[in-house]
Amino acid sequence: MKATTELSLESTPIVDTHCHPFVPVKRRLNLSDICALLYFEPSDIREAKELERRFTTTPPVVVSRLILELGKLYRGEEWAMSHLPSEAGIILEERYERTQNYSEYVKFLCDDASLKTIIVDAGYPQPPIDLETFSNQVSCGVHYIFRSETLSDQLLTKKEPFSDFLLSWDTAIDEALKDPNCKGLKSVIAYRSGLDVYPRSKDEARKSYEVYQQDPTASLREEYKPLLDYLFIRAIEKTIHFDKVLQIHTGMGDIDIIGEKAHPMCLFELLKRAPFSSAKVVLTHSGFPWVSEAASMTSLLPNVYMDLSMCCPFYPLGINLRLLEALEQAPIRKILYGSDGMSIVEVMWLGGKLIKESLEKVLGKLIQEKKISKSERQEIAEMILYKNAEQLYSLSESQNL
Ligand SMILES: [Zn+2]
Repeated sequence: MKATTELSLESTPIVDTHCHPFVPVKRRLNLSDICALLYFEPSDIREAKELERRFTTTPPVVVSRLILELGKLYRGEEWAMSHLPSEAGIILEERYERTQNYSEYVKFLCDDASLKTIIVDAGYPQPPIDLETFSNQVSCGVHYIFRSETLSDQLLTKKEPFSDFLLSWDTAIDEALKDPNCKGLKSVIAYRSGLDVYPRSKDEARKSYEVYQQDPTASLREEYKPLLDYLFIRAIEKTIHFDKVLQIHTGMGDIDIIGEKAHPMCLFELLKRAPFSSAKVVLTHSGFPWVSEAASMTSLLPNVYMDLSMCCPFYPLGINLRLLEALEQAPIRKILYGSDGMSIVEVMWLGGKLIKESLEKVLGKLIQEKKISKSERQEIAEMILYKNAEQLYSLSESQNL
């Protein structure tokens, strides 16, 4: 394939704009463990067991793809193509041996994918992983995103008067956004009350807060919505004020997602009006599986971007298709790369390998079809892999952790 595209991105740097910190996993793993770890970090036992049960007989394609790519890396392409997937156990044993020298192993993978910088969502897992310890374990620059609902959840349990709650919320958000290593906020309101957010008065928010204090159960979701909407809007305003980015989870996720209100387009009316239209917003997970919808929003709204996490590496069969869906409508400068990697370093690494492979194939095809010129392709790939991220998140202007 490379012969026809003549494009090799092997050494092109990557900025992974959406992933999560992880702790070292150095124990022996079987395929079910790998499967669970791809979706949940190690302390998330309940969900991991559920996932393990679902996939015991048929692991998702991403697991076999991960083993294949590890096989190529550890033992060469020829060995991998002739021995996998049947001899996956050999690769898992080799992983165990290699991870005993953990920092060297992590560096090996980061270097192999040319991972230059990662921006981690520090809101997952909980309790939080110490970012300084984490950044010492990876060989790339680390910045972080502050998750606003995690803060709200913590403050809600304090049962303070609404004005004190709000003051604490503002103080913590301001402190985070003043930190040059904090690149913005993240919202997972798609998991709480949905993306159909609209402005609320402070009084509505206060009443909603008081209802929550009396009965903090999920069955009253509608009653909490004014408070959650109010804080979401406040988070947008904060990112505008500090000139930082707001990452918003869009699209499907795990079983707790409010699926019918997780479409990126639910945000359209809000984000097209002032002052919210001036916020730098990233539709995280590219609204997967509604990638076209996210791409269309980035084409219409001047400050809305999308990242490709979830498309890559979690659904390897359709990466090229999803990339084309993004390229069809989104301005190139609005497309960012992200892996949503967590739990084990291999997810982040695999995402980097697969997005490069996909860009080589897709851009090669577009050249063959005379849709782009040869002179453009390297720049397009570099923009998606790291240049757009460097610009949006002002990466060159600040230091890493
Ligand atoms: Zn994530």
